[in-house]
Amino acid sequence: MNRREFLKKSARFGLGGAGLAGLMGNVPGCVNDKSKNSFGTAGRQRQKQPNFVVIFADDMGYGDAGCFGHPTISTPNLDRMAAEGMKFTQFYSAASVCTPSRAALMTGRLPIRNGMCSNKRRVLFPNSAGGLPAEEITIAGALKSKDYATGCIGKWHLGHLPEFLPTRRGFDSYYGIPYSNDMKPSILMEGEKIIEQPVQQQTLTRRYTAKAKAFIEQHRTEPFFLYMAHSFPHVPLFASDKFKDTSRRGLYGDVVEELDWSVGKIMDTLRRLNLAENTLVMFTSDNGPWLTKKLHGGSAGLLRGGKGSTWEGGMREPGLAWWPGRVKAGTVNRELAGTMDIFATFLDLAGVDLPRDRVIDGVSMAGMLLGDGAGKRQEMFYYRGEKLFAVRQGPWKAHYITQSGYKNDRKEHDPPLLFHLDHDPAEKFDVAQDHPEVLAQINKLVQQHQEGIKSVPSQLEKKINSL
Ligand code: MG
Repeated sequence: MNRREFLKKSARFGLGGAGLAGLMGNVPGCVNDKSKNSFGTAGRQRQKQPNFVVIFADDMGYGDAGCFGHPTISTPNLDRMAAEGMKFTQFYSAASVCTPSRAALMTGRLPIRNGMCSNKRRVLFPNSAGGLPAEEITIAGALKSKDYATGCIGKWHLGHLPEFLPTRRGFDSYYGIPYSNDMKPSILMEGEKIIEQPVQQQTLTRRYTAKAKAFIEQHRTEPFFLYMAHSFPHVPLFASDKFKDTSRRGLYGDVVEELDWSVGKIMDTLRRLNLAENTLVMFTSDNGPWLTKKLHGGSAGLLRGGKGSTWEGGMREPGLAWWPGRVKAGTVNRELAGTMDIFATFLDLAGVDLPRDRVIDGVSMAGMLLGDGAGKRQEMFYYRGEKLFAVRQGPWKAHYITQSGYKNDRKEHDPPLLFHLDHDPAEKFDVAQDHPEVLAQINKLVQQHQEGIKSVPSQLEKKINSL
C-alpha cells in the first residue's frame, strides 16, 4: 500500500483530534472528568492558563551546552535560560534511544507499559507499521480538555503512518520529519501531507524556528502548548550557511549553536509578545550523545557511556526550566526529575486531573519549579528495550545488566554493580560489597515494580508487509 492509500484509509478509519478528546471523555476518572480534582487546582483554574513550550534536542549530551560545562560550544541562549531560570543536574529521559524516550515524554509513562519499546528493534523505522497506541493520552491530548492550542514542530518518531501522526494524537498542527533524519525516504510533512522529499536538511532548524515563531504569534491570545522537537544534533549533521564553519567545536558545534540560536528566537518572541511571564519553557534532550559517531557525536561530560546505554551518559540529559517571575532565576536543582514528569507537571499547572485508569510514572514538578525546589521523585528505572537493566533509588544506582550503546558486550551482574551517584557520578567505583543492605532494598523495589508491569505487544516489531 502506498502512502496515498494509507492516508485515504486512515481518514476513513482513524481517530481525528476530536476523536481523541472524545475517547478521553469516555474514560471514567480521566482527564475530561471535571467532577474530580486530584490536585486541588480549582483556585489555579481561575487564573490565566499558562502556556507551555518543550524544546527537545535529539541526541544532545549532558555536556554539550556551555551552562553544562562544554569548553568550546557557545550557547548564550541556553546559558541565559539557566541564568534566568532553573538548571537541573539530575534530569533524565526514560530511554536511551529516540522512540521510547519520546513516547515517555508525551505520555508520562514508561514505554514498557504501552509497547513503545522492544528488545528486537530499538526504534521505529520507515517500514514500521506501529506507533503510539490511540488509547494513550498525550500532553497535547490532555491539554485539549482545557482548550489549549497545540502545535508539534520537528521530529515525531512515534509512528509515521497517518493514524499515528501528531494530528491524531492531540496536536492541531504538525510540521516536521516523522522519524530520524538518517532514515529513508527522507520526508518533510505539514499536517498529514508530504511537502518535501528529500528534505533539505541545511535549512531545517531555521524553518522549524520560523514555524515556532508563527505558532506563538498566531496563538498569543489563547493558552498554547508548543512541542518543538529538533531533528539535530542527530547524525547526519547539517547547519545553515550562517552557522556552518563558525564554531570552535567543528560541525557538531555549528549545529548545537544553531539550535541555541533557535532557543533564543523562541524566547525573544515570548518576550516581545509579553507572554514570557505566563509561559513555562523546558529544554532537554531525548537521549545521550551518539558516541560511536566520533567527532559527529556529542559529549556526556563527566558521565559514563552515551546513547543506547543505561549508563548515566545514555539517559541523564541537560535540563532547563524558564518562566520569568515564577521559576526563581539562577537556581541549580540537584533533585531527581525527568522527561516523564513533564506530562504530570503541565497537567497540574493547567488544572487538568491526571488520568486515573492507568499508571502514570511521572510526578508533578510544580513544587520544584515554583516552590522550595524539593523533588518528589526518588527512583529511576533504566530500561533497554523491554528489559530492566538498572535502578536508581536516591543516590544509589544498581546495574543488573550492562551493555555499551552499540556493542555486543552485554553482561549480567549478580550481585549487581552498585554506584553512589552523588559521590561517583561517573560510575567508576563499584561499592556493592560494602552495602548489601542497599542492594536488598533496591531488589525489593525491583520486585514491586515488576509485579506492576503487564506485558503488552510491542509496537516497534510491527512491519509494513509490502516494505
Ligand atoms: Mg535521539
